[in-house]
Amino acid sequence: MSVKNGAPYDDNNIFARILRGEIAAKTVFENDHALAFHDINPQAPVHVLVIPKGPYVSMADFAADAPAELVTGFFRAVGQVARQLGLEEDGYRILANAGMNSHQEVPHLHVHIFGGKPLGPMLSRA
Ligand code: 5GP
Repeated sequence: MSVKNGAPYDDNNIFARILRGEIAAKTVFENDHALAFHDINPQAPVHVLVIPKGPYVSMADFAADAPAELVTGFFRAVGQVARQLGLEEDGYRILANAGMNSHQEVPHLHVHIFGGKPLGPMLSRA
């Protein structure tokens, strides 16, 4: 089991299980390096998650440890998914939570893609 930021990567987190096909997901895109699927609890008319096919918890882990072709393949996938979803014209937001202060729920790196309506301010001021 690989160690990330001092904590072990949990091979049984929900997204690891989706990657292994143990839990169903509504896939919108897949390549050798990434999988994209609809969020189960959408926060916008379009809410898709893109995950790399590798055991990385956060963007920092991924940037530090992932092979270059996985980093490239993952970010190409993020862009391709945004385009495929038809979000280029009206715009969209990409967000990746990491750790406690961001309320990251699933400890496998994921990028949220939100779109389909005006998305309001970037952060709540509360
Ligand atoms: P985080 O807070 O970690 O950035 O976001 C985790 C996201 O994963 C949430 O938006 C949540 O709705 C989504 N999610 C959690 N469990 C599942 C699941 O089993 N399937 C799918 N498709 N999304 C999930």
